[in-house]
Amino acid sequence: MLELLFLLLPIAAAYGWYMGHRSAKKDQEDISNKLSRDYVTGVNFLLSNQPEKAVDLFLDMLQKQETENEIENSSQFEAELTLGNLFRSRGEVDRALRIHQALDRSPNYTFEQKLLAKQQLAKDFITVGFYDRAEALYIMLVDEPEFAEGALQQLAVIYQKTKEWKKAVNVAEKLAKIAPKEDNIELAHYYCEYAASLSVEAKEDPVEILHTALKVSPTCVRASMLLANVFIQQKNYRSAVKNLENVLEQNPAYIGEVLSDLKFCYQELSQLDNFELFLIKASQICHNSAVDLALADLIAEKDGTLAAQTKLYQQLNQHPSTFVFHRFIQYQIDNAEDGRAKDSLVLLHKMVGERIRQGFDYRCVNCGYQTHKLIWCCPSCRQWESIKPIRGIEHN
Ligand SMILES: [Zn+2]
Repeated sequence: MLELLFLLLPIAAAYGWYMGHRSAKKDQEDISNKLSRDYVTGVNFLLSNQPEKAVDLFLDMLQKQETENEIENSSQFEAELTLGNLFRSRGEVDRALRIHQALDRSPNYTFEQKLLAKQQLAKDFITVGFYDRAEALYIMLVDEPEFAEGALQQLAVIYQKTKEWKKAVNVAEKLAKIAPKEDNIELAHYYCEYAASLSVEAKEDPVEILHTALKVSPTCVRASMLLANVFIQQKNYRSAVKNLENVLEQNPAYIGEVLSDLKFCYQELSQLDNFELFLIKASQICHNSAVDLALADLIAEKDGTLAAQTKLYQQLNQHPSTFVFHRFIQYQIDNAEDGRAKDSLVLLHKMVGERIRQGFDYRCVNCGYQTHKLIWCCPSCRQWESIKPIRGIEHN
């Protein structure tokens, strides 16, 4: 009997181990399930715009994990990473930094987890303007295939902010290899910025850089305008004209920006007739009051303001525009006899002029940001080439 009991002992031990293991596993599952529920609740708080409640919940989860030490390593990591991101989104970047730095230094986490921590740490540094520290982290992440694209995008953002255009060009070129684009507007503008920043003694040729800009984004009017500037400085007016006129094909909304340079070049070439032909062609392609006014100027110079006034009257009938109307009244004043009618015209001219002055000249077609001068990267939505001349995008 005693022998039988001895024989049963290993079975009893195995059963005890099995039951104990099952109970421990169940506890672990319970805690994991509780964590998952809490995690989902926290995310729901975030989605319903209640970040305060979410932070409280995540903090509570973290405290429990620290005391009970029974949660899977990965869940704890996710919760801490999310908590850090929450702090950053609430503007408490010092807290976010502390959490993400702790995750990065902790010996408990894997190399892959630390890469995620580094990624968030870099975002914290960007938020507080420590670009050099963010840059160092992103440079590390570029070597990791899963992180490379995001890291290169962020490096481009940093170099845009620090105006390090050569570096911006380098990262955008690498990015273009990973994620090719048919029309790479960002890269084209980095080339433009870089070409414009070159000093006279620089070894690089701005013309070559700007041609590369046109290769990656054939519609980049800025590259054409900068090329024209270089050629005007070299008194190569023929090449300048070619690039300025190219703007009409690239993006007619910007044509008003090049007309004064184009007129200057044609004057230097003694070919004002060709300028007139170009304006007529432009007015057929797009309805832009800058083109109408330039054409009226030419007619006024050649045939007098009465002829120009007649031309503007036709244009106003077809495409009403405040800018054209303002000039039309000016011509009427010039041709009117002194008296009450002329005084009324002067008053009307002044009022319309005031309205034009109060308005903006440029607007972002993406976010609606308005400005008095042409900016290539919208300060509000950060898009390149989205700010367009109002005269080119509508008639008012
Ligand atoms: Zn914008």
